Amino acid sequence: MTPQNLHAHSTLDDGRSTPEEMVRASLSAGMRSCGLSLHSPLPFKNDWAPGMETVEVFLREMRHLAAAFAPRMAVYAGIEWDVLSTNVDLAPFDYVIGSVHHLPVDGANPSVDESPEATADLLARYFVGDADAAAALYFSELQKVAAQPRAQIVGHFDLLTKFNERGAFFDEESPVYRRAAARAMEALVEADKIFEVNTGAISRGYRTSPYPSRVLLEQLRRMDGRVTLGSDAHSACNVACAFDAALRLVRDCGFRQIWQMVSPGVFEPVALEAFER
Ligand SMILES: [Zn+2]
Ligand SMILES: [Zn+2]
Repeated sequence: MTPQNLHAHSTLDDGRSTPEEMVRASLSAGMRSCGLSLHSPLPFKNDWAPGMETVEVFLREMRHLAAAFAPRMAVYAGIEWDVLSTNVDLAPFDYVIGSVHHLPVDGANPSVDESPEATADLLARYFVGDADAAAALYFSELQKVAAQPRAQIVGHFDLLTKFNERGAFFDEESPVYRRAAARAMEALVEADKIFEVNTGAISRGYRTSPYPSRVLLEQLRRMDGRVTLGSDAHSACNVACAFDAALRLVRDCGFRQIWQMVSPGVFEPVALEAFER
């Protein structure tokens, strides 16, 4: 059995494959259930999140796919809710992943998800090169997911290290960084959120290991936190990208199980042995 993937995008947001291609690929990869997580519309100009009019189109398409695939697999309609999308109704979705992609600073909303160049530019322009200050703002934004009851999963907890594998931008060992991450983690664990081990930056060639980092995952384990896997796939060939590596990582960090959704909003633990081939 392949772990369930609930973090996936399609041509209805910034992905390259249609929703049906994504679901079909999840079935072929050996999943027994899967979900698509539409990016939430954002209240400011950007070139990646869909407009509000796409929400209904997405929900209709997902209802159609859920019915069509019902005999073979459960298909869920989710949303990857950005904390800045305060204008979006989360009620119609089967599940919600809470994420941060932009830092609200100086009346602008620069992205931490775009490219190494954009990250360099963001640090220089808005933080006078003070990467610790950017990290502190990022994690305090992410902490807002704790206050959103509909969001059960935390997306890519340390996304800002997407372009950081060689330590190019953020010092993940600095006291400021570690304190900010620990504070957010505590609040999110306290709110009973499930942390996603995300392989999306591997499929894009930015990283060789999933995030959260090993240090953060070990910390999460000590806090008795819960994890799930997410490929953050933007094309059908990546629906289960590097899931073997992600399973190894969570096992190495001391986890014995991952959490999977069994019906809308209901998560259950699955022992890691269930995924051994
Ligand atoms: Zn995301
Ligand atoms: Zn995503």
